[in-house]
Amino acid sequence: MNEFLNIVAEINNAKKVLVLGHIMPDGDDISSVLSLTMGLEKLGKEVEAAIDWKIQSYFYELPEVQKIRNFEQVKNYDPDLIVIVDASSPDRIGQFAQLLEKYKVIVIDHHGTNTYFGNFNWVDTSFGATAQMVLRINKELGVKYNERLALINLMGIQTDTGFFRYANADERVFLDAAELIKFGASPNVISRMILENKKIEQFRLLATMVDHLKIDCDGLLAYSYLSSEDYAANNCTEEDSGGFVSEIRSIKGVEVAIFLSEYNPNEVHVSFRSKEWFDVSKVAVVLGGGGHPRAAGCTIEGDIKDILEEVVKITRVTLKSESLRGRSFGN
Ligand code: 5GP
Ligand code: MN
Ligand code: MN
Repeated sequence: MNEFLNIVAEINNAKKVLVLGHIMPDGDDISSVLSLTMGLEKLGKEVEAAIDWKIQSYFYELPEVQKIRNFEQVKNYDPDLIVIVDASSPDRIGQFAQLLEKYKVIVIDHHGTNTYFGNFNWVDTSFGATAQMVLRINKELGVKYNERLALINLMGIQTDTGFFRYANADERVFLDAAELIKFGASPNVISRMILENKKIEQFRLLATMVDHLKIDCDGLLAYSYLSSEDYAANNCTEEDSGGFVSEIRSIKGVEVAIFLSEYNPNEVHVSFRSKEWFDVSKVAVVLGGGGHPRAAGCTIEGDIKDILEEVVKITRVTLKSESLRGRSFGN
């Protein structure tokens, strides 16, 4: 809690702030970046928001997303303070990692794999979303919520809890969401924008993913992949496979789902999900990534078939040894 108050004091004292999110930004990241940016603007501060990655096109239905700049646009901005949200380590902020040495840095995050790379770090894994932490920072700073800020802030809570379905959807998640809804946010705006905005090509891409699906470890492990050729053949890009890993996890009996996405030739993003007990962040960390016990990832360079083999091998071994330690797994 002390770090929370230190961070509030630091932000209070700063006039010019750069708010950064992580690469491959998700709803919680965009929500956290924008909620903090909008909050600080309301307090009269000069703020820039930036993410060193392309933002999925459907987020632009929220006009505020246009506030988010890329690295080139803000690399010469000279802030008093940098606040990084929802990112667990320097590699997660892309080229902005270059600025870490030069500026005072605050990290606000909920990943158990956080490396405490800021000068001040508020890391609390008990929050389902970083957006909940930003809500607390904003309120402590005295930010008054209107309908737009409430909506943007709610998006992170909705997306990181899988629209209130995951185990992290606890009482505080619902209370925070209710508070933001009271301020005027409509959850339906976000759920429609994210869940009901699919192109027909994405269904064909899903069919290709299902074609590649394999079940392993007596049904506990399921995995699939999409190569850059698969994306091209379906007239899709890697942003069109968002949510596929959750589809794999939704199979009855599956504890661990893995999805590999070759978003650039020889650059593969690996997504891990688990349902009830297996800690996928441990496997992701071994492979140079990170995340949460139920959702983690890493990026690996090389041939997608080799990477798939390696990733499945490591997961299989870990899953077997974890299963033997008290989990039922017949073999
Ligand atoms: P996703 O599978 O949706 O890309 O990511 C799931 C979770 O793992 C997210 O919480 C994300 O922050 C984390 N994650 C994904 N990829 C990486 C990575 O390359 N490095 C680290 N440290 N975390 C990752
Ligand atoms: Mn995130
Ligand atoms: Mn998050």
